[in-house]
Amino acid sequence: MTKSSSEAAAIVPEVLAKYETVIGLEVHAQLLTNTKIFCSCANRFGDAPNTNVCPVCLGLPGTLPILNKRAVELAMRASLALNCTVHEHSRFARKNYFYPDLPKGYQISQYELPLATNGWIEIDHEGAKKRIGITRLHLEEDAAKNLHEGFSESATKAYIDYNRCGTPLSEIVSEPDMREPEEAFAYLTTLRQIMLYTGISDCNMEEGSLRCDANVSVRLRGAKEFGTKVEVKNLNSFRFLQKAIEYEVERQIGVLESGGRISQETRLWNQDESCTVSMRSKEKAHDYRYFPEPDLLPVHVSDAWREEVLRTLPELPEAKRARFMRAYGLTPYDAELLTASRAFGDYFEEVVQLGAPGKAVANWMQTELIRCLNDSKTPFIENPISSSAFADFVKLVESGKITAAVGKKVFAKMFETSRSAADIVAAEGLGSQVDESAIEQAAREIIEKNSDNVAKFKSGNEGVFKFFVGQVMRATRGQANPQAVNDILRKLLS
Ligand SMILES: [Zn+2]
Repeated sequence: MTKSSSEAAAIVPEVLAKYETVIGLEVHAQLLTNTKIFCSCANRFGDAPNTNVCPVCLGLPGTLPILNKRAVELAMRASLALNCTVHEHSRFARKNYFYPDLPKGYQISQYELPLATNGWIEIDHEGAKKRIGITRLHLEEDAAKNLHEGFSESATKAYIDYNRCGTPLSEIVSEPDMREPEEAFAYLTTLRQIMLYTGISDCNMEEGSLRCDANVSVRLRGAKEFGTKVEVKNLNSFRFLQKAIEYEVERQIGVLESGGRISQETRLWNQDESCTVSMRSKEKAHDYRYFPEPDLLPVHVSDAWREEVLRTLPELPEAKRARFMRAYGLTPYDAELLTASRAFGDYFEEVVQLGAPGKAVANWMQTELIRCLNDSKTPFIENPISSSAFADFVKLVESGKITAAVGKKVFAKMFETSRSAADIVAAEGLGSQVDESAIEQAAREIIEKNSDNVAKFKSGNEGVFKFFVGQVMRATRGQANPQAVNDILRKLLS
């Protein structure tokens, strides 16, 4: 599969087919709090290095952590959106290890009693739905960031930015329920969308606010026992996730087929070489000498608090899709597209509530709006067409005052100039100005010139009707009312 590793020499498909892949994902999402999890330093990406630090997050002796309630609330939100049980009692624990980005010498995490357990989400893969279990969701603090590039002395020195130290994280661990790299991709996509909808994280993979590690193993098809799993880190894009798993599966099968054994280890995805490389043998829980964090009280979540968080959960993507299909007669494809982000779905509903028909709005949003946004590289939040201008536009087309072909031109102008559709139509003389007698005249001429097609139509070939409509529309330069064209042609051809 790749030139860079002898371990993964090309394996024939028949051999690959003997094995089944087992994948579980561990996802870290930075929570969108104003301040860090155990101190009042700002939780903000992109500030000058080492400006958002204090004795607590620098781990200086004699300081004590104070838990940020908002971080617990956001993690509860995520837990409930992922169908997890939020426990009344959970506890922080110390995970001990030494690394320069961890000034205390331990990370405050949760171990035996996590905030939430036993949830699930449903993914869509090749048209079928599949439920992926979520083992647990726990809270922890992020470490600082080691910077190995970009400084004059980077060749000989490592630099550390402690701004990230103490950023609240929720770690979401899935069950090993995925069987293909594409399922892992679908799981991460679905999870990310839920977290964006609930506003718990901005899930920006480039900035590191969403990070993903994969546990990958293979076993012979039909085997009950799991194979030895390898943890693959550094999967900081959706594409890397999929490529790294594909690589790792072939590598493991290669090792097994040549009589070797998989060692339980942590491997790093190397994007430049398109391969995974061994980083360290996998540490076990006892290596971290976990013990309950003595500086923090156990976390207590009352029923009332949990209910309150549950009440503030927004409609989730899956529920919104189902409702859009039901309420507006949309196809699953339409609903998928319109719920891609919460803002996109909200905009759709605003337009519909202003009196434009749902299906027509969906069509114009999916075609012309997306095209205009893409062509001009405009993010949706900067969409220059207000919901009321959009609604007026759709109503204008639906009323037959302008044709769909003219509508496309008008829409592009609206996007460019923010003028109203009615203004553009009036100023440029784009209304359906072709009166019925002109349509009839054009239709008669076309029927006369195409006697062979008339014969086909009369012998029952309904498809030919489209040909006549197209010809009449062309003859009237796209400005005739399509309904009138249809009616007149039916009359003349019958
Ligand atoms: Zn601090």
